[in-house]
Amino acid sequence: MLKKSLAAIPALAFALAATVGVYAQAPAGQPPAGGQGAAGRGNQPPPAPMEIKQVKPGLYMVTGMGGNSTVRVGNQGIILVDTKNLGDQFYNDLIAKIKTVSDQPIKHVFVTHVHQDHSGNIGKFTAAGVEVIAHEGLKKNLETGGPKGTGYESAAGKPAPPSTTYSKDKKITLGNIKAEAYNFGPGHTGGDTFVLFPDLRVIALGDHFVAAQPNSDYPMGGSVLNWSKSLTEILKLDFELQRRAAMSACQRHEQACSELLSFGRFDFATNELHRSLAVHR
Ligand SMILES: [Zn+2]
Repeated sequence: MLKKSLAAIPALAFALAATVGVYAQAPAGQPPAGGQGAAGRGNQPPPAPMEIKQVKPGLYMVTGMGGNSTVRVGNQGIILVDTKNLGDQFYNDLIAKIKTVSDQPIKHVFVTHVHQDHSGNIGKFTAAGVEVIAHEGLKKNLETGGPKGTGYESAAGKPAPPSTTYSKDKKITLGNIKAEAYNFGPGHTGGDTFVLFPDLRVIALGDHFVAAQPNSDYPMGGSVLNWSKSLTEILKLDFELQRRAAMSACQRHEQACSELLSFGRFDFATNELHRSLAVHR
């Protein structure tokens, strides 16, 4: 369904420009009230249904109904990044989509940050015995984040805490696949995780880099000052372009387009990234 023209670079540039505009008004998963994701967007059109797309052999992305989830399939199980909007229907749909590409069990889940469109179904995975890994700042956000210091809570409810937390980095090997999680201090929130799949050279950045401008949730510990420092560290990691997947999704809808920037830096993103860094240095 996404096999439309991959040659329309001007169209891509236009779509990206449009996306930047959209996100300047309404950052994904982060309305002013504190990150209720798509559920909090007022009278915008209904969100797109979930779809699973191959980014590279052995790595898929599930779009729709929350931040994009990354699915890394190995010979002894699956490593997943992000859990979709909070709720049984979203969890069940995510699992169903993953089962269309692999029968392997999900063994580890990384959660990029506290907003419920990424963290929503932590509790479903921990209840199923899956290790859910997040930065220690995410757990702190759940406990004491927000304007009142009473902890993160969305309109859909409060996400459950992760089963494992880390401070600087966390590396996982599962059969023939690897994942490396990093935190470089506050950025989008005070508990961001970036997940690198080193053998495929693909990185999932959550909402840390959704467009050219900073996207920081200050009550949850985000920092525009450290955002550029964090990006500098991210750029030292070894990941590559994901032009094809990005273009496909950009032509479909803006939400996926913007969040696909998280799957690698292609030319536009890289240029904007460096421009941003130059400004903030
Ligand atoms: Zn977010």
